[in-house]
Amino acid sequence: MSKCSILIIEDEKKIQVFMGKVLKRQEYRVLYADTGAQGLDIIRSQCPDIILLDLGLPDMNGDDIIKEVRRWSSIPIIVISARTAEREKVIALDLGADDYITKPFGTSELLARIRASLRHSSRLRADANHYQTSYRHGNMTLNFSKRLLTVGAAEVHLTPIEYKIVACLAQNSGKVVTYSSILSNVWGPYADGDNKILRVNMANIRRKIEADPAQPKYIFTEVGVGYRMAEDETDNS
Ligand code: CA
Repeated sequence: MSKCSILIIEDEKKIQVFMGKVLKRQEYRVLYADTGAQGLDIIRSQCPDIILLDLGLPDMNGDDIIKEVRRWSSIPIIVISARTAEREKVIALDLGADDYITKPFGTSELLARIRASLRHSSRLRADANHYQTSYRHGNMTLNFSKRLLTVGAAEVHLTPIEYKIVACLAQNSGKVVTYSSILSNVWGPYADGDNKILRVNMANIRRKIEADPAQPKYIFTEVGVGYRMAEDETDNS
């Protein structure tokens, strides 16, 4: 099997070097770009398997790179963002970024994001029936064909809306899913943009699946952005 190639578009040398070291140790092939223009060149000529993209580049806005790439490719893009920039993250995700990672980040967080995005993109390419048969993390299992959620030995009774929310997050496990993306996925494209109905449903879901809803183990809140379900453990090979 050929190595996965990862392109890092980042003008801060320190961060570029840190990420490069971590990724090479995991046997990824690493490509580097210091500017947006260089990044786009490499994307077109080398077709990397995944892109790590800093939004603040010297020559262009990272958002413009996402827009450009999404015109012709679904290569996973993970945005590298500052801690408080919720708005920036939501915009990048709405433009087609797959996920984001917040500076400063550690090795395990970086690798988990990459793993989740690569797994998701390879699943999208695979046979639709093969897309996913079940999700498991810790004691929780979701069987998509039976629409059955269990925590330990107990079956969890979800309303149809709650099920759709959980299934949407599980199919994207390990990745952030924005409020607007969940709303349109569950309630349809004309869904009210108000998050309140989603928050109410999420509170009910957490009461049913989390031992302590204030300290969730399965579904995490990404403040101002959306929710992230813990990474699927059924096929982390
Ligand atoms: Ca920068």
